[in-house]
Amino acid sequence: MSRFAYRDGELHAEGVALSAIAQRFGTPCYVYSRAALESSYREFDAAFAGIPHLVCYAMKANANLAVLNLFARLGSGFDIVSGGELARVLAAGGDPAKIVFSGVGKTEVEMERALAAGILCFNVESAAELARLDAVAGRLRHRAPVSFRVNPDVDPKTHPYIATGLKESKFGVDFDEAPQLYRQAARLPNVAVRGIDIHIGSQITEIEPYREAAIKLLGLVDRLRADGIALAHVDLGGGLGIRYRDEEPVSLSDYARMIRALFAGRPERLLFEPGRRLVGDAGVLLTRVEFLKPGTARDFAIVDAAMNDLLRPSLYDAWHAVDPVRPRRGDERAWEIVGPVCESGDFLARDRWLALAAGDLLAIRAAGAYGMSMSSNYNSRPRACEVIVDDTQVHLVRRREEIGELFALENLLP
Ligand SMILES: *Cc1c(COP(=O)(O)O)cnc(C)c1O
Repeated sequence: MSRFAYRDGELHAEGVALSAIAQRFGTPCYVYSRAALESSYREFDAAFAGIPHLVCYAMKANANLAVLNLFARLGSGFDIVSGGELARVLAAGGDPAKIVFSGVGKTEVEMERALAAGILCFNVESAAELARLDAVAGRLRHRAPVSFRVNPDVDPKTHPYIATGLKESKFGVDFDEAPQLYRQAARLPNVAVRGIDIHIGSQITEIEPYREAAIKLLGLVDRLRADGIALAHVDLGGGLGIRYRDEEPVSLSDYARMIRALFAGRPERLLFEPGRRLVGDAGVLLTRVEFLKPGTARDFAIVDAAMNDLLRPSLYDAWHAVDPVRPRRGDERAWEIVGPVCESGDFLARDRWLALAAGDLLAIRAAGAYGMSMSSNYNSRPRACEVIVDDTQVHLVRRREEIGELFALENLLP
């Protein structure tokens, strides 16, 4: 059930009309539903009830402190990819003992901070990273908990920019080299081998790549156990897709059934790193039409949000539904919904059959994941504000940036 629905001819977030939010906070504005955030986490967690598991929300999808804090309150762990994300999630009340640290380029300082915080595991992605982690942990007199992110070489059948588990990918260690790396890690004094990890891609809408990857992974886990290396956890990564247009997302019950069958009777705790699936549907980007610019070849609706606010259409040619907050009758046409940024690639949606007038509010749907978190200040545009709707209440969880803040860190030459 969507928490964004029409009532009395107007799109609402839970019990609040989006026009009221636009009036109070201005546009562009990201609007999230608390109920949607909480129910998506609960649904994911409940799918694995009864088996030892931990959901580590991949916070790069949406890293607003209030969002992180809601998940932390529900018991969520977190998948982080930088020292900045570590600081952010700790500030939001995340439990360090439930944090896994992914990413191919962890710096020494990032490793030190994560060790000092006492995270659950480093997902190590290369032999060079293992050596660095061992040295850093030794200096700090810690033992770093590690798992290797292995590359199962399966095709997740998604956009090439978000396929991460193919042999050509920069991510993970080669499947065939993994046993050797595990043996090496087991001999190092300052690391403790804990688990194994995969993450095969994003916006995946088929269950088969997951099954294929998990089966390969379990073969490796058993081989390691036979070699005397017993793993405490298996991290199956994230990547479950959502419906943007007409995709048929994998149902959580089917996904969980497949995994329960494969892991029945096994000793390892399961970890998951869902990002998009927990937050994507829980947000919209609210924007206002500034001008209509009908043309001979194309008709443009120029709105006050742009590629700096929501990069996915420009970056991945991603499709987001665009709904008028108050649908009007009248002259419908195929509009190009574009922003004010000086790039031809600055579009939010193309060829949308709508009746529009200047001043109309539009909701760009399913913008809760990789929306605000990928935003920038390109064209010296202050980033949008973010609000969370809780029933009939609206909470400002990030105020709009002020223009002076955009150059406050810069200096003139003497
Ligand atoms: C981005 C990422 C995720 C989350 O991916 P989603 O498609 O948003 O679920 C999980 N794990 C790792 C290592 C990632 O880089």
